[in-house]
Amino acid sequence: MENIPVCYDGVKAYDTSRPPLRQPLPFTWILGLGSRLMMLGQPYRLEKIRMEGLKPPYILLSNHMYFVDFYLQFIATFPHRVNTIATIDGYYRRPFLMEWLGCMCKRKFTTDVSLVRSVRKVLHQYGDILCMYPEARYSPAGTTAILPDSLAKLVKLQKVPVVVLLHHGNYLHTPFWNYRQPRKVPLYTTMTQVLTAQEVQEKSVGEIAAILRQALDYDEYRWQREQGIRITEPFRAEGLHKILYQCPHCGAESRMESKGARLTCAACGKTWEMDELGQLRALDGETEFPHIPDWFQWERSQVRAQLEAGTYQFADDVEVYSLVEPWKFRKLGMARLTHDAENGLVLQGSYNGRDYCICRPPLSMYGLHVEYDYCYLRPEDCVDISTEDDSLYCYPVRPNVVTKLSFAVEELYKLKKKRPATLP
Ligand SMILES: [Zn+2]
Repeated sequence: MENIPVCYDGVKAYDTSRPPLRQPLPFTWILGLGSRLMMLGQPYRLEKIRMEGLKPPYILLSNHMYFVDFYLQFIATFPHRVNTIATIDGYYRRPFLMEWLGCMCKRKFTTDVSLVRSVRKVLHQYGDILCMYPEARYSPAGTTAILPDSLAKLVKLQKVPVVVLLHHGNYLHTPFWNYRQPRKVPLYTTMTQVLTAQEVQEKSVGEIAAILRQALDYDEYRWQREQGIRITEPFRAEGLHKILYQCPHCGAESRMESKGARLTCAACGKTWEMDELGQLRALDGETEFPHIPDWFQWERSQVRAQLEAGTYQFADDVEVYSLVEPWKFRKLGMARLTHDAENGLVLQGSYNGRDYCICRPPLSMYGLHVEYDYCYLRPEDCVDISTEDDSLYCYPVRPNVVTKLSFAVEELYKLKKKRPATLP
């Protein structure tokens, strides 16, 4: 299918290839001290491991759960300058500020060749910290999201130490599916040098990838249980149906609902309750998945089975807003979004009297950016489909379908990568 970009009549796309500025030291201080101020009243602990004597340049990889990750990152790296890879919507209405902070702009799940050049500039010309959130979005179920294949290669090429900032509690405090109602949870962050410059030199890309995968492995519900953290807020399961969209009892999709501490399937009526330690229990009959990430993984396996059987297909009308440049979202109106094993994601619509068609074939995207309650636009579920110079935020008409769509994008990429010819 042919890619036809949206016609904007003279609007220039934001240039994501511009090289990052070196972060001015006063900003480093404002960020470090401001972040401490923002954390007043929130209990947190930061532990540094194998960090003695380590000075920039180094690559900092962090897991991503909520905005508080940034405060903890600036506290952990203070007083050193940090250049962070950020996404275009982080630039919304403040591109100058983001540029001054030394951020590097990227559109989600796109290939950006200029990024490697920017990375090299930060590490080898400025001698500063390069910070990346390789999951590229907030963790949906409190476990590690997908990591890009290119990460270990990038590390190997740069020949600098790698530090992993692993946050715990941030997801439980403000889960992606209900970040507007924070819970009382203590935060704990480790900052670990996982690879010295010499280790990067000595190890193969495969060995580096394995080390990074292990260092970035986390499961917030396991951590909650091990630490005995009780979340007593009565609304603790509200919003959980956004990630647990399929009923394991009757198999119905997009019919789950949540209220208070309970999750219910509107199709068969089965109800589960979330206890204070984050475990689920069926009110009647068998508890299929007491551990939330297991339920989440089961849904993924269902999507994968549909893809393997050739029965998977997604099609819906979507309302589209675009962020071609960071000053304003443009309302593009209704369009048609389809996803299948042959063409991948295809978005077809019309704007300014001209048709557009955005195609992202299966192997061009290893993940999909999902928002459950998007703070910049309508507070509802949407997906962001980006190209190198545009980002299209699509709100499906059908409720609670975006998590499945993100599984399908990931699983289709994996399947096509493994055996491109045999997939139906
Ligand atoms: Zn059901």
